[in-house]
Amino acid sequence: MKKKVLILGSTGSIGTSTVDIMKTFPDHFEVTGLSAHSNDELLVKQAKELGCNNLILTGKEESTYKEIKTFTYERLTDFIRENKADIVVNGIAGSRGLEPSAAAIESGKDLALANKETLVMAGPLIRDLADKKGVKLLPVDSEHSALFYLLENRNPAHVEELILTASGGAFRDLKKEELCNVSLEDALKHPTWSMGQKITIDSASMANKGLEVIEACMLFHIPVHRIKVLIHPQSYVHSLIRTKDQAMYAQISSPDMRLPIQNALFFPDQEPVQSSFLDLAGKSLTFSEPDEEKYPMLKLAFKAAERGGSYPIAYNAANEVAVAAFLQREIQFMDIPLLTEKVLSVDWSHSCGSLSEVIKTDGEARTISHELIKEL
Ligand code: NDP
Ligand code: MG
Repeated sequence: MKKKVLILGSTGSIGTSTVDIMKTFPDHFEVTGLSAHSNDELLVKQAKELGCNNLILTGKEESTYKEIKTFTYERLTDFIRENKADIVVNGIAGSRGLEPSAAAIESGKDLALANKETLVMAGPLIRDLADKKGVKLLPVDSEHSALFYLLENRNPAHVEELILTASGGAFRDLKKEELCNVSLEDALKHPTWSMGQKITIDSASMANKGLEVIEACMLFHIPVHRIKVLIHPQSYVHSLIRTKDQAMYAQISSPDMRLPIQNALFFPDQEPVQSSFLDLAGKSLTFSEPDEEKYPMLKLAFKAAERGGSYPIAYNAANEVAVAAFLQREIQFMDIPLLTEKVLSVDWSHSCGSLSEVIKTDGEARTISHELIKEL
């Protein structure tokens, strides 16, 4: 029987890779729904290619395409609950991905999770919900997918450290002083991955790795002092673990998001990923410690994770507001950590006991961020 798949954010970078996998394996998967925010043209094209007539567009109230019947973000969670999918791929960008993740789990669907904000904002709530509903939470973020497989069937007591690798982003060859004058265009040039704009900026500031450190704490239930980050410019090693005996185990593959997406969709089975074969002969793999001064967003993420409570929510909200402003050319690149640090100086020690509290706290952190931006 075919596995039924609902793709959220189908028009984005994760979404289009997922659509690609659906087209590669038509005998294994049936697409039961697609969501997009603004790109109705691509949404309708994908729907035709996949033979899917269940579409939602969340960023417009109407469209010239008659195939799209459902609109607005408010309808999205019902759309997810009513869908007959076995598994939902969440490729929505940013904090707007949280409620769709919860709706997928609440309605008993497995979740292939690319949207890292879900776990950063509400890790314990989402994990508890998944346990309660008996659904699988399958990481799609490449580092977490790597760790998921490295940790599978391993005694947790033997695992000492998780090591996340980072490409170092667009500015890895620049000095700290040079970062003050970088342009938006430069920040959008990622050396190894082709991704959405927000995550590309986050890679340049290493806020992306910061979010991933928090995501790893939440997903694998591990304290942040047992997580380390190494810069690995080639992006072949996606993560490592160090075990008690001081051995290290690595997951190595081409930098191709189809691998973690496809593995999540086929889990617990595996199929070859087209054109992802990596020949290590002649390749050099290098690793270095990230410079904390050059990448303050990474240091701030470790602090937010250590402090716990709602600090991760505030970190994510401040960064999202700052990156949106940077994309609008309203602030400079190094204002992103400046703003985030200021927002984190507020007391965010309270823990949120429900999703609505998380969303309220996120809103508060955004309001403060917007006010602080005016003062920059
Ligand atoms: P993109 O910006 O490429 O795509 C985002 C998708 O979400 C699009 O389909 C977009 O619709 C939709 N969307 C945007 N805003 C909203 C909203 N407010 N409500 C509902 N849908 C919305 O992002 P990526 O694919 O790069 O990233 C998606 C998520 O996956 C992020 O959380 C990212 O951190 C994570 N991730 C991405 C990786 C990658 O390789 N790209 C790797 C690991 C994790 P439309 O285009 O129609 O406007
Ligand atoms: Mg990643």
